[in-house]
Amino acid sequence: MSVVIVRGAVAVVEHSRCVRTGDVVIVDGVIAEAADPEGATVIDATGCVVTAGLVNAHHHLLQTAFRTLPGTRGIAMRDWLPAMAAAYAEAGIDTELTGLAARAGLAEAVLSGVTTVADHHLTWPSGADTVGMARAAAEAAADLGARLVFVRGAARDDPEEAAASADAIVRALLPGTHGGVSSDGMLQIAVGPAGVHSDPRETFDLLGEVARTHGLRRRTQANEVVDVEIAVERYGARPLDLLEEWGWLGPDVTLAHLCDVTDDEIARVAASGATATHAPGCDVPMGWGVAPVRRLRDAGIAVGLGTSGGGSNDAGHLLADARLAMQVSALVGPQLAASEVLSMATAGSADGLGRAELGRLTPGSAGDLCLWDVSGVADAGVADPVSGLLWAAPGRRPRTVVVAGRIVVDDGRLTTADEGEIVAQLFERVRR
Ligand SMILES: [Zn+2]
Repeated sequence: MSVVIVRGAVAVVEHSRCVRTGDVVIVDGVIAEAADPEGATVIDATGCVVTAGLVNAHHHLLQTAFRTLPGTRGIAMRDWLPAMAAAYAEAGIDTELTGLAARAGLAEAVLSGVTTVADHHLTWPSGADTVGMARAAAEAAADLGARLVFVRGAARDDPEEAAASADAIVRALLPGTHGGVSSDGMLQIAVGPAGVHSDPRETFDLLGEVARTHGLRRRTQANEVVDVEIAVERYGARPLDLLEEWGWLGPDVTLAHLCDVTDDEIARVAASGATATHAPGCDVPMGWGVAPVRRLRDAGIAVGLGTSGGGSNDAGHLLADARLAMQVSALVGPQLAASEVLSMATAGSADGLGRAELGRLTPGSAGDLCLWDVSGVADAGVADPVSGLLWAAPGRRPRTVVVAGRIVVDDGRLTTADEGEIVAQLFERVRR
């Protein structure tokens, strides 16, 4: 039996309605009420707030290799898509680059307190070893000790090829399982076309069939500005009308972005049981506007938080985007509270993945947590250290990160890999 005890924290955020002090106990990778301290690993949390590990519900890890790319900033999405596609073609997306980009993106994630990343992978050159690419991302996560949700996406892929590849990925990476999650909970597989702006109904149908066969979650992106424009132009309908008609609004579906939504659409998403992912670190710089998160939550929709990828948001730092989410929320309605946004970045994201065991520190939950040091000058004078986590010290990183009871970041450093090597390997590949 392995026991980890986190002791002496300023505050422990169990979930959005329970902030307490006292120990956090992890037994065999799972949060427990208490345990025999004999032989336990004790982590000193003096001066720290302890939260559940953050869950990044929307990332495109491959884009980690394409940050601040010339010609991709300050332009419309219609022009951004071909600019990114040209960069992908020039770099040659293969197993090696997929793995190295995932490794860098996931290392950045855990170093910033994210213990689960949903990687919506959208770039599959024809003839590529798609199982190898998915496996490379999964291996990067396993090496670093992070949880990965690999989303077999599609963006103008041949529908039948995309579905065959998704099916092969599930069979290769999660053999003999149903429900899309590995028995240790470290790897999940989901499917998701990029959106109605890029993929035809057939892709949604066929990937939906793969999801039904294997019990996978479904994810897509909807109602960014260009998504609405193209849907109206091509089909004479709005994206959510199409998704509803195509059977892609339901409790197993998560919709990222949702910047441009009407009250009627919000009501229909809520009635369907679908969940949402807010990604202001992408939506704001892309000029798509601010998703009405307050209205989504008031309608009863579970809302998670994601960074989206390095092609639009050059930082995979979810807590920084939680801060941004609070700041910009005041532009579209009553401001979101820090506790609400923290709960979006943890339990909200986890619920959208169908993973109720993640994103909270209640007994029985996964033993994923972060120690955030709030004893420094950037937190001096802060009245509420939990609100301060988001409002103060932008870009803060956790001192310690634990995933399934294993310490993966200690004193701000990876325990599982050499950060410098990860950086050097990605630069070596992209500059080749
Ligand atoms: Zn996105």
